[in-house]
Amino acid sequence: MCKKLYYENTYLKNFTANIVEIKEEKDSFHLVLDKTAFYPEGGGQPSDMGFIEGVSVNYVYTQKDKVYHVVDSLPSKKDELNCSIDWSRRFDFMQQHTGQHILSACVDKLYGGKTVGFHLSKDYTTIDVTTQNLKDKHIQRIEQLANEIVFANLTINQFYPDSDTLKELPLRKTPSVDEDIRVVSIDSFDHSPCGGTHVDRTGEVGLIKIKTYEKTRGKTRLEFVCGNRAYNDYLIKNNQINSLSTLLSIKDSQVYEAVERIYNVNNSNKKEINKLQSELIFYEGEKLYNECISKGNYKILKKTFEDRDFQNLRTLALNLCSKADVIALLGTKKDKAQFILAASKNISNINMKDIVNNLRSKMTINGGGNNHICQGGVNSTDDLELLLSLSYDEIIS
Ligand SMILES: [Zn+2]
Repeated sequence: MCKKLYYENTYLKNFTANIVEIKEEKDSFHLVLDKTAFYPEGGGQPSDMGFIEGVSVNYVYTQKDKVYHVVDSLPSKKDELNCSIDWSRRFDFMQQHTGQHILSACVDKLYGGKTVGFHLSKDYTTIDVTTQNLKDKHIQRIEQLANEIVFANLTINQFYPDSDTLKELPLRKTPSVDEDIRVVSIDSFDHSPCGGTHVDRTGEVGLIKIKTYEKTRGKTRLEFVCGNRAYNDYLIKNNQINSLSTLLSIKDSQVYEAVERIYNVNNSNKKEINKLQSELIFYEGEKLYNECISKGNYKILKKTFEDRDFQNLRTLALNLCSKADVIALLGTKKDKAQFILAASKNISNINMKDIVNNLRSKMTINGGGNNHICQGGVNSTDDLELLLSLSYDEIIS
């Protein structure tokens, strides 16, 4: 029988114990000690980590009332082992887990919502509550009450009541076991059956902050942070807001309005730029039309641009070919080598698709098109020049 020290004293960090059983698995050893302060994974709370006689404990679990400590190698001895748990990890879980009790009780008391899901990990903590249609003002009310409970610094009792006492307790939820029911009472505010580890007073939970909430399959999911996590979250956000307010030379309370203004100005600038670019391309098309080389009935333009956006190149080609008898063979070297081969609608004896397909034996071409317009990319700028030259030769021949 393994004595569960983590229930006797949730603040126990170091202890000595003896190994009573070793289970050898493929690439690890699972140790049972005569007593342990290592909390095994359960009730939504992840397991403790730490050291047994200098050997790192990676995971702890229970099986048939035995607590197994998973280690990579065996400790140098079996008796009087020095054991220590990773206290910052455990205390963090105790803060989040106790915060969960407080929040769940607040949702229940204020809006009658039952907590039907709880997730606690190193990265985030959530509860799923049955209350639907929660809005910002409700979330704020829940958060306010939760923090009032924290600041009241109420005593938390973790105990095994006898059956008579148990009957008297207004439990927030039905116990999941029939015997040895452990109850966590937050003064007279909340009583809940739970097998996890919690702090002794609500003040130790520290600030409780609901970060986000969302509807999920008929329930509401609340993501929250408590204590050190809330402090770290505030640290990051405060730094960001301060950087933004310095950058924009405004007060921190005005950051949102300022960013929204910049966002709107940027959007209208983008629209204006697009409009001006279209106008510019129109005039450029007129100029380039005059640079076209006349071959028979057709006017041909072959040109490569160093730094031109592909969409912009396409607009230019379409612009040129909106006139009759024009063939535009254009390329751009911006980011990657891309081309567009286009012919006016009235041209029927030149097939761009065939031209591109014939060139596929000479280079890798991604893309394609139809008789009048083909576009795509090639592997290098040399290939781009070659593609345009060979297409030109093919057309004039
Ligand atoms: Zn609990």
